[in-house]
Amino acid sequence: MVESHAEGQLPGGDPSRMTERSGTATARKLFIKTYGCQMNVYDSQRMADTLAPLGYRQSAGPEEADLILLNTCHIREKASEKVFSELGRLRLLQEAAAAQGRRLLIGVAGCVAQAEGEEIVRRAPQVDLVVGPQTYHRLPDLVTRALGGEAGRGLVDTEFPSESKFDFLPEEASPSGPAAFLSVQEGCDKFCSFCVVPYTRGAEVSRPVMDLVAEAQRLVNAGTLEITLLGQNVNAYHGEGPDGREWGLGRLLHRLAEIPGLERLRYTTSHPRDVDDELIAAHRDLEKLMPYLHLPVQSGSDRILGMMNRKHDAAFYRAVVEKLRAAQPKLALSSDFIVGFPGEKDQDFAATLRLVTEVGYAQAYSFKYSARPGTPAATAAAPVAEEVKSERLAMLQQLLGEQQQAFNRQFVAQRMPVLLERQAKRPGQLVGRSPWMQSVVVEAPQRLLGRLLEVEILEARPNSLIGRVVTLPEEKNGMEAPRMRATA
Ligand code: SAM
Ligand code: SF4
Repeated sequence: MVESHAEGQLPGGDPSRMTERSGTATARKLFIKTYGCQMNVYDSQRMADTLAPLGYRQSAGPEEADLILLNTCHIREKASEKVFSELGRLRLLQEAAAAQGRRLLIGVAGCVAQAEGEEIVRRAPQVDLVVGPQTYHRLPDLVTRALGGEAGRGLVDTEFPSESKFDFLPEEASPSGPAAFLSVQEGCDKFCSFCVVPYTRGAEVSRPVMDLVAEAQRLVNAGTLEITLLGQNVNAYHGEGPDGREWGLGRLLHRLAEIPGLERLRYTTSHPRDVDDELIAAHRDLEKLMPYLHLPVQSGSDRILGMMNRKHDAAFYRAVVEKLRAAQPKLALSSDFIVGFPGEKDQDFAATLRLVTEVGYAQAYSFKYSARPGTPAATAAAPVAEEVKSERLAMLQQLLGEQQQAFNRQFVAQRMPVLLERQAKRPGQLVGRSPWMQSVVVEAPQRLLGRLLEVEILEARPNSLIGRVVTLPEEKNGMEAPRMRATA
């Protein structure tokens, strides 16, 4: 879970003051609590952008907020129940604000909003608005109507509208820092039998190439050096190119790599079936495309992959990995695994361990299967006992953990370019990203935040690397030394 917020500027007050005056809206405080994937992190930022013209500035915490949005995720077990518990806690804040004469609006966005819709305002009448992932460009209208007291409480907008929200979001987005997300594709047409995404995010939609180039250019102008292209199924991207034809992800990556000042590109999350030759060639040809790929497989058993409706078998996955590694020998892989899918037997799980051993991962995410209401697998026969799931998960995580440690250890005494992204918990330290997505902690002054520098790795820990900046750039007449180029 990620909380996204920034400091507010002016005190809040009576919500009825929230009007445009001489073109400047009265400042109000917005707090967005973001759950789940990077796509939600991107969406939360864009929600804040849509509300900026109404005077909303993000606040550091929920206590002083005039509007709290929960940007929810439906992928984990009991996701809806967790949101309802959170809403119970927020009601107390809302009552405290009312006692001070302030009106606090509460909104629910994201995939739980999409899945539960009207049920949210029925069970939690303190909620003022519910907005789905495809309609958050309508937030300013919903907020204005909620403040005006329209329909009492509980405005719900969870349509899959014919217009694209991207055509209505403000062009001028707030700066995203040295590493930013760019949503290029949304939705999924794959319908894996365990997954809610096709129902909560809808059908696959790709944004036009030149819109993405323009957004990437704006990010770079604001100081971003690394962009991660996002999509539920990002390599199913098929947006309209400047020539009026459909472009795939490989071609889009080539075009984005031409932007001067953009040093690093990544993309996530991919489906093995949609790895085409153009994308493989991008890994071979684009120096800016980082040598790290999250390529979920879920299981190593063909029987289970079939029941999951993954549309590929283990041999197909191995062949895709082989082609990618032939194109880019430095490529490191990550994946998602589900253990205990209904009907999974010992030999199926053994096939998963075999696949992990053969492929070798730099890191990975693994989950116990849990039923999502409304998905085909939720009613499947032969559920796996909870203890068996726990046992299998522990074994898989042990193996994946060993692979991750071995992967990290090979970098000790090596040098690599690291993009310094944020302050570490300990003063005087910064945290950056290696080309292979490892967190790298270095002793470095604050002024180096946002720089791409050469770092020597001193120590490998299970989940991070410790390094030292090889040459500290000098400050020349108050000017920073030039940035280094990304090479992996
Ligand atoms: N689109 C990606 C893909 O094709 O794998 C990822 C989608 S999902 C947001 C992220 C991960 O959550 C999945 O890869 C899967 O491992 C896990 N997941 C989804 N539904 C699940 C369920 N019902 N039980 C356990 N894990 C699940
Ligand atoms: Fe869910 Fe990914 Fe399968 Fe789509 S491809 S249904 S997002 S797991």
